[in-house]
Amino acid sequence: MQKREELYRGKAKTVYYTDDSDKLILEFRNDTSAFDGEKIEQLDRKGEVNNKFNHFIMTKLEEAGIATQVEQLLSDNDSLVKKLDMIPVECVVRNVAAGSLVRRLGVEEGESLTPPVFEFFLKNDALHDPMINDYHIMSFGWATEAQVCEMKKLTFRVNEVLKTLFDDAGMLLVDYKLEFGVDNTGALVLGDEFTPDGCRLWDKETRKKMDKDRFRQGLGSVVETYIEVADRLGLKL
Ligand code: ADP
Ligand code: UDP
Repeated sequence: MQKREELYRGKAKTVYYTDDSDKLILEFRNDTSAFDGEKIEQLDRKGEVNNKFNHFIMTKLEEAGIATQVEQLLSDNDSLVKKLDMIPVECVVRNVAAGSLVRRLGVEEGESLTPPVFEFFLKNDALHDPMINDYHIMSFGWATEAQVCEMKKLTFRVNEVLKTLFDDAGMLLVDYKLEFGVDNTGALVLGDEFTPDGCRLWDKETRKKMDKDRFRQGLGSVVETYIEVADRLGLKL
């Protein structure tokens, strides 16, 4: 499958049309951004690592019966995916308090959250991805009530699958962000990516940060640590 015209260039990936109108190619670049694109760096091999990591995780989710965009790993940096009409919201589940939750509510980082917390954010860099709720999504027509319900259900289902996967590999899934879209049959499908760029993972024993907080907080060894995460999951990069 060949890349055709560019559809969209985001902060970390470029999306291309293909000869098949129902499929796109996602190119994972080395660009790494934080703080709504204020901090940007090129990290050697990050695109390749995230592309392969994302394919591995999406395949695990498919095997667990969750509909994802996954079609085929094409090369080091490229994946073929189902073309989705993306819903412009981010679905976040938190098992442990960290990041913006800690800043917003003044709670302690590391506090266990039972039940896990679910949050919606609007995908809008200019507005710094504001937190929204179900009513904003329905009132502004970003998704229907049924889709809102299904996004929550699927995001929690992903939690069940991935919490266990990471736990078995000695890691704690602290939080993560998912994006969904609608395919050509009208079904809700998991799109975008699941990589250490879009989740928080801590070593279960030492609580070492093994995700994009290494980049946000200038902790170093960003890609090396992503490779360690993959290695622990049995994915050789
Ligand atoms: P951002 O848009 O936040 O800068 P990226 O650099 O990751 O993010 O860009 C990828 C873009 O591609 C995102 O806007 C995402 O919503 C979109 N996208 C991801 N998966 C699909 C898909 N399967 N079909 C259509 N668009 C997708
Ligand atoms: N996240 C993401 N993209 C975003 C915002 C958040 O992938 O635009 C992920 C982030 O990596 C973390 C989770 O969603 O795993 C929750 O992020 P949070 O709200 O704590 O914001 P942050 O402090 O990470 O900006």
